[in-house]
Amino acid sequence: MGVKVYIPTPFRAITHNQATAEVEGRTVVHVIEALEARYPGIRERVLDEAGEIHRHINVYVNDTAVEDLNGKNTSLQDGDEVALIPAIAGGAIPFTEEQIKRYSRHIILPEVGGKGQRKLINSSALLVGAGGLGCPAALYLAAAGVGRLGVVDFDHVDLSNLQRQILHHTHDVGRPKVLSAVDTIGDINPNVKVEPYQTQLSSENVKEIIAGYDVIVNGCDNFPTRYLLNDAAYFLKKPLVDGSIFRFEGQVTTFLPGKGCYRCLYPAPPPPGLVPGCAEAGVLGVLCGIIGSLQALEAIKFILGKGDLLVNRLLFFDALALEFRQVKIRRDPECPVCGDHPTITELIDYHEFCGVPHEQPVS
Ligand SMILES: [Zn+2]
Repeated sequence: MGVKVYIPTPFRAITHNQATAEVEGRTVVHVIEALEARYPGIRERVLDEAGEIHRHINVYVNDTAVEDLNGKNTSLQDGDEVALIPAIAGGAIPFTEEQIKRYSRHIILPEVGGKGQRKLINSSALLVGAGGLGCPAALYLAAAGVGRLGVVDFDHVDLSNLQRQILHHTHDVGRPKVLSAVDTIGDINPNVKVEPYQTQLSSENVKEIIAGYDVIVNGCDNFPTRYLLNDAAYFLKKPLVDGSIFRFEGQVTTFLPGKGCYRCLYPAPPPPGLVPGCAEAGVLGVLCGIIGSLQALEAIKFILGKGDLLVNRLLFFDALALEFRQVKIRRDPECPVCGDHPTITELIDYHEFCGVPHEQPVS
């Protein structure tokens, strides 16, 4: 984890429209050099020929102007936020009146506050699947003000989805799920930028898609995608909040790179056909809301840097017994992906690994 830099709108032509960038750096100058390495041209926007911060640029560290700290040599720690603000924007990134009112119940929480809310606004999350889990997770992340939400789903809304997939409405039946998601999220919170991906995740596109997000929320419904996403998240060092549901039971855990992965937990998928999907086995609709909301909670805690994540813990929920149980899980040194001597160092053919024919659609 490094330092998060807020990129002002005038500089985003250089950063390919990225509003934030995560870079390593011990001081403000180091961070600017790291940005320059990634986005050539940004240095001269911030520093003059003598290496001093332009007088028309204000630089903030965690909402404090660096001129009140140690200037360009202000030291930084992991998790710090640096904001580059052209003076014309008037200094600190102000909340709009609408934002202050909308997020007031967050802002008055000491654990969130204005700083935490700003983190949420400047953050991004990718929802894999706009189904039973992705729908409630997306709604809460959008309502919380997470600034950018990616939604991956190749499927169309079916009437049988509406019992649990609460982003979609009756009038959406037949529409692509990602478009229904764009509309509903926009209705909840128009401040959120939604990026739809109407596609199947594959070894060809997964890295490109997940690279641009701070946290991945996995609500997929099949094993090839689950292993694909696990491996890609590990290779790209992305936190992965994993959720799954079956009839009346749910599971949630959070994988942070280097602290275990899905393969440590389940080295191999069950033989094809042994575990039926929701279409054959059924699923209680409200269970999706509970598990998907827990995933949103984990993503929000990760973004805020607050609380204890479900890392190295697997949470089981039994809806009929109304019981939550936890088991400890740990990184397996023998894990083929994240172990001490990995044998899988790039993406593989996940259909073959799971024994699932390629023709079977995966979302
Ligand atoms: Zn592992």
